[in-house]
Amino acid sequence: MKTPFVTKNQIEEITKTIPTPFNIYDEKGIRENARAVNKAFSWNKGFKEYFAVKANPNPFLLKILQEEGCGVDCASYVELALSDELGFKKDDIMFSSNDTPASEFKYADALGVIVNLDDFTHIDFYEKAVGHFPKKMCCRFNPGGVYELSNGIMDNPGDSKYGMTKDQLFEAYQVLKSKGVEEFGIHAFLVSNTVTNDYYPTLAKTLFELIVELKEKTGISISFVNLSGGVGIAYRPDQKANDIAVIGEGVHKAFDEILVPAGLGDVAILTEMGRFMTGPYGGLVTTAIHEKHTYKEYIGVDACAVDLMRPAVYGSYHHVTVLGKEGAPEDHVYDVVGSLCENCDKFAVDRQLPKIEDGDILFIHDTGAHGYSMGYNYNGKLKSAEVLLKEDGSFKLIRRPETIKDYLATFDNLGIVDGLLK
Ligand SMILES: *Cc1c(COP(=O)(O)O)cnc(C)c1O
Repeated sequence: MKTPFVTKNQIEEITKTIPTPFNIYDEKGIRENARAVNKAFSWNKGFKEYFAVKANPNPFLLKILQEEGCGVDCASYVELALSDELGFKKDDIMFSSNDTPASEFKYADALGVIVNLDDFTHIDFYEKAVGHFPKKMCCRFNPGGVYELSNGIMDNPGDSKYGMTKDQLFEAYQVLKSKGVEEFGIHAFLVSNTVTNDYYPTLAKTLFELIVELKEKTGISISFVNLSGGVGIAYRPDQKANDIAVIGEGVHKAFDEILVPAGLGDVAILTEMGRFMTGPYGGLVTTAIHEKHTYKEYIGVDACAVDLMRPAVYGSYHHVTVLGKEGAPEDHVYDVVGSLCENCDKFAVDRQLPKIEDGDILFIHDTGAHGYSMGYNYNGKLKSAEVLLKEDGSFKLIRRPETIKDYLATFDNLGIVDGLLK
């Protein structure tokens, strides 16, 4: 059973001043989880988690993660600027972008952050854009083929646009070295949302063996291995959540077996988790406003795919709890839908739930990563608020809902909608 991190009473207190829909985040959960991550990798002297900003760019949450010792992983100008403004500096920022514009390489260079090159051709591109190379650089590896773990085929890196082939990777390090780069890292992101403790250890083994081979063949030593993201969460109540302590120990074992005997025991382990860091510690709070009985039974809520796109885009499962009816029999089958004029705007399809009445408040679980951040303004729907449930149980508005002025802000002084911008 999945239990919301807030009670119905707490939500009713919040809705006195902040109407639904809104995303709420659990500060206590985020902090405890970040501490567990750091503990799981504390055997590695250089360990650092670089939170993937795209998963949840709310600055209040980034500050919490910063206080817990995390850096950030950015992939765009805005993510870099936001991180810089929040006090993440140089080695606190990993710039893991792809199809990167010259202006963003220049900006990353000016900030002095760690740049992760997605492609071999980016070496020339970087040199033309920036004019010189930093002392430290990372390269992104793609092994191609399909990627299998003990529980079957996980994904298809051969189909993915990211990273360099092994030959390109080995050549990239040698070219970069000839251009004055002194310190090197390797990065790979092969599978998303893995719900198994095997993914990081298996990936680590692949990368560790590769850097031993690189050292033997070229004499180049890698100083950090970036395992990137992909550690998943249990969206479904029947899934067993990953155990980060077990994952950390699995990477430790591969490290001791492969890197230590090769004289590479100083290599730092870095991660770029997004989903695992904040996913379970967010929920979308929404009110049932309609029920509709046609060929199916529908519950219409006041949130829509603008607030959470994953079900519409990927058909993803997000668990739904009807607040205050946690123990009630789940004897109704509903589609829980939003108001977009798109039939994919359904938070749940054929879901067994307790009987829902108008005014009931639903908690849609696991929206803390790739939730609000993926949202858009389709159908002219305005994005909703974000609320932080603080460690002491009090709450704070950490982003107000959008207004029509926000939506139309880019028409300023164009003389077409000035009446709405006043
Ligand atoms: C999206 C992304 C991440 C985070 O992925 P999660 O699945 O949220 O862990 C990390 N690194 C890069 C380069 C990414 O694109």
